[in-house]
Amino acid sequence: MKTMTTSAGAPIADNQNSQTAGPRGPVMMQDYQLIEKLAHQNRERIPERVVHAKGWGAYGTLTVTEDISRYTRANIFNQVGKQTPLLLRFSTVAGELGAADAERDVRGFAIKFYTEEGNWDLVGNNTPVFFIRDPLKFPDFIRTQKRHPKTNLRSTTAMWDFWSLSPESLHQITILMSDRGLPQTPMQMNGYGSHTFSFWNEDGERFWVKFHFKTQQGHAHYTNAESVKIIGRSRETYQESLFGAIEDGDFPKWTMYVQIMPEADADKTPYNPFDLTKVWPHADYPLIKVGEMALNRNPDNYFAEIEQAAFSPSNVVPGIGFSPDKVLQARIFAYADAHRYRLGTHYEALPVNAPKCPMHHYHKDGSMRFFDNDTGNPDVYYEPNSFDGPSQNADYREPPLAVTGDIDRHDHRDGNDDYSQPRALFELFDAAQRQRLFANIAAAMDGVPEAIVNRQLALFEAIHPDYAAGVADALGIAPLAKSA
Ligand code: NDP
Repeated sequence: MKTMTTSAGAPIADNQNSQTAGPRGPVMMQDYQLIEKLAHQNRERIPERVVHAKGWGAYGTLTVTEDISRYTRANIFNQVGKQTPLLLRFSTVAGELGAADAERDVRGFAIKFYTEEGNWDLVGNNTPVFFIRDPLKFPDFIRTQKRHPKTNLRSTTAMWDFWSLSPESLHQITILMSDRGLPQTPMQMNGYGSHTFSFWNEDGERFWVKFHFKTQQGHAHYTNAESVKIIGRSRETYQESLFGAIEDGDFPKWTMYVQIMPEADADKTPYNPFDLTKVWPHADYPLIKVGEMALNRNPDNYFAEIEQAAFSPSNVVPGIGFSPDKVLQARIFAYADAHRYRLGTHYEALPVNAPKCPMHHYHKDGSMRFFDNDTGNPDVYYEPNSFDGPSQNADYREPPLAVTGDIDRHDHRDGNDDYSQPRALFELFDAAQRQRLFANIAAAMDGVPEAIVNRQLALFEAIHPDYAAGVADALGIAPLAKSA
């Protein structure tokens, strides 16, 4: 049997009784074993994520089944049959760490691929679009999803006030309030990179790319009424189902696809292909199969491996790059910044975040510097140096991107059609799906002032008259009210 020790390694003789002066106390201040135990417990929590706080994750593998090397030099895709280990964390967006799993919300779908040329993080959602297209609006939007400063309750008024003043949110609202806004388990939903990214190949050609992961488990959703019952039974249904499936060897799988747009097409599409509120219609840019992703191993320690998992869109690898998408560019800063705040300067050296490939950098000290020098020579601690230290390699240079235009605060709503794509989605829904959409919206509008409801109905009307009429009917108000 192992002898228990303090964190400094000293053997512990008694872990049942604190050290006291006499059997009735008081406790001795010198009982450092007691103090260490209490002090550690006080420090067991770190700030929860402001968004995507509640999550569920597992390890897995991406297996490449098709050759897409004509689009990208990314090492992860350089061979059919290649397998790359990964970590996938699902999450809800708005709820706090203790929120119930089966709540209507967008789901995060964040993947860390441990490639041979560094970690590639695809930090997406289960929806192909988002509520906003300009990152300046993100903190305000999230504020409307969180608690009111006075009541400390979530406010449907704030949500619909913001949305009804932001027509670019209509596409995502329609997905959120449709069946897909409440998947039964993390396995029964798709994942999307959502942003437009770029690929570049060995010849220095650039392509714009969108990433899709289609569930092989099939889609399954709860109605609002079902979710009330489910949450009454358990608030942890996603953790139970994901963890349980993997423990049982029932490994969930997704088929990975890309959509590819030649670089020059970006000037020709009727919609801005870098607008996060838009998809690329499949008819224009068909899905190209890439491979299969499977989850096959549960983490041993939830806190260490999932709570401390740090995904950031800034983690790209040679052959994969960014795009002019404004929201993506803001996330490149914001995600890594959040991790430095939550986890500390060296968060990427934590085992779950550390690359599996060698890394050679000159970042130095700071809080919790715990990893060894890796340069093999104590004189190598700056760059350039004369001591054979790691240095740049121009082979990995990304092709240049030409940009034009005035630097200004360009109106992000100018010339944008916020209605056609939600209309295309609405037209895909059958009568029963539409009724559930209307009912879900009406339920989510509980307590919202009439003027805000009417402003939102006018936006639904611009998508489709049946959309506005259906919501008005579900609200039990006259369709006429929309023009009030
Ligand atoms: P398609 O008919 O080729 O594709 C429709 C897509 O809609 C499919 O990917 C389907 O996913 C998905 N879908 C079905 N029901 C829902 C739902 N309730 N919520 C979200 N997605 C759903 O049409 P287009 O490519 O021309 O797109 C039409 C509309 O479909 C878009 O405006 C957009 O709202 C939506 N959509 C489009 C995607 C794209 O990348 N083009 C991706 C996802 C949605 P599945 O195949 O898994 O059933």
